[in-house]
Amino acid sequence: MRTNRAMTGSRKVQWVRRITQFVFFGLLLTGLYMDLRMVLIVFLPASLLFGNFFCGWACPYGSLQELMGNIGNLIFKKKFKMPKNIQKYLQYLRYVLFLILIVGVLDLVLTPINGYGTFLGQFSEDSTNAASTVALGIMLFYLVLGLFFERPFCNYLCTEAAKYGIASMTRIFSIKRDEASCISCKKCDRACPMNIEVSVHEQVRNGQCINCMKCIDACPVAGTLSYSRVRLPIGKKTKQ
Ligand code: SF4
Ligand code: SF4
Repeated sequence: MRTNRAMTGSRKVQWVRRITQFVFFGLLLTGLYMDLRMVLIVFLPASLLFGNFFCGWACPYGSLQELMGNIGNLIFKKKFKMPKNIQKYLQYLRYVLFLILIVGVLDLVLTPINGYGTFLGQFSEDSTNAASTVALGIMLFYLVLGLFFERPFCNYLCTEAAKYGIASMTRIFSIKRDEASCISCKKCDRACPMNIEVSVHEQVRNGQCINCMKCIDACPVAGTLSYSRVRLPIGKKTKQ
């Protein structure tokens, strides 16, 4: 079973992640976040090898949703999970939105749905008040929803996340599960804010993964889950 050392290690990772989220949120509040856009772009090529660290570690809006999720846990003592048969289709919505955004069709429709850029843009000088107000309203709506469902915007609507998700499909470092020591308790599945069924995969190769490492933190058997080198091309699904 899980040793104190393994537990301390994964807790430390969670603390480092929280501090990193806090720093990035501070950058947003001070207006430096928008100035760092060109530097932050480094997260994208890094995703090709290491997966999506941006959403789980750096995105201020993702961090806010996570905070709301934690508050929701405290209030309701229970997190609602999207039913699997809905999740399996709904998870592709953000990629569809991303595609629409790329081809430039229905941009005016998408802007109110995906106000992410405008949300961040409100901290820059070039955003209009009207766009900021609409975007803020939408963002607040998803934050409230985040009390019940973890990271609802990241999961289904964020085109930024879709971009990182696509890039991370070639990752060579990911979450790996040791089938021999796994006791199928499914604590990893319950801990995953992106609704990934970690417990049925030998390795996670899923565009939804945000490298939050919460699955590793939740696993009660030391060494069963790790963030390490995985095989290409596709992770083997061991059972459904
Ligand atoms: S699979 Fe693990 S690291 Fe990836 S999003 Fe889920 S909990 Fe986070
Ligand atoms: S939490 Fe660990 S032991 Fe439980 S199902 Fe997931 S990988 Fe297996």
